[in-house]
Amino acid sequence: MIGDPVRHSRSPAIHNAAFAELGLDFVYVAFPVAAGRAAAALDAVRTLGLAGLNVTMPHKEGAAAACDELTPGAAVLRSVNTVVHRDGRLLGDSTDGPGLVAALREHGVEPTGRRALVLGAGGAARAIVDALGRSGAVVTVAARRPEAGAAAAKLAPDARAVAFADLDAVVPTVDVVVNATPIGMQGEPPPFDPTVLTATQFVYDTVYHPVRTPLLAAAEARGIPHAGGLSMLVHQAALAFTHWTGRDAPLAVMAAAARTGLDP
Ligand code: NAP
Repeated sequence: MIGDPVRHSRSPAIHNAAFAELGLDFVYVAFPVAAGRAAAALDAVRTLGLAGLNVTMPHKEGAAAACDELTPGAAVLRSVNTVVHRDGRLLGDSTDGPGLVAALREHGVEPTGRRALVLGAGGAARAIVDALGRSGAVVTVAARRPEAGAAAAKLAPDARAVAFADLDAVVPTVDVVVNATPIGMQGEPPPFDPTVLTATQFVYDTVYHPVRTPLLAAAEARGIPHAGGLSMLVHQAALAFTHWTGRDAPLAVMAAAARTGLDP
């Protein structure tokens, strides 16, 4: 993987555990790469014959520009987190959004036809809005900056943007709530009154550190089905793994590796 910083990443542990499980002759390493050097790093993939890369901040847009081809999602987002090297050509994909959709399905939530509220309008939120829209969900985006929310809402058919101030009224109108902001990483409370949640809804927090955010704790206290971001982390990694190796990812092994070192 390339990024800056990359030292904290769980990805090497997740992928190396998966390679070991399947006996594959691959190794995953994290390269700190300075801002502005994404194209040079992608050239190195071709030169060195690497299978591919994961891409994280600040290179997701630069890597998208340097790929030979993009998946439809990556092309719309102009952002890639996965590069696949095939015969000298580089394919860029964005697996965060499909990873969230796969995680919802793992938790028994089929997004097709469901009303989904996405909190945030940054990189993760935009990828999630795009993927939920492709899955047939009806998406509402809530962002603290209206122009960012409106831009994100353009990524999914029939999506709308709402203000954070209106969340208490909007939350009861949806089936699924997805937090795609960092709210909760430092123990911050959710940006709406959690007593408006009901047991027919599903709450997903993309934050995975801490494992139990205040939003998830509030959902749990009210008996509302919920899950944290570890499953999205694992599924986005699994999609990249399959791109590089052509093999189904050993999800349980990857999840165990992802959990190691995180709070229980
Ligand atoms: P980003 O591009 O920096 O976007 C962050 C978004 O959250 C922006 O819309 C930002 O609004 C908003 N935001 C930040 N602090 C806020 C606050 N206090 N109140 C309201 N809105 C706030 O970051 P990102 O890459 O999208 O990542 C967001 C979070 O998603 C990460 O912190 C991470 O926990 C999670 N994530 C999880 C996975 C996974 O696999 N589970 C993958 C990727 C990301 P402004 O633009 O107004 O600042």
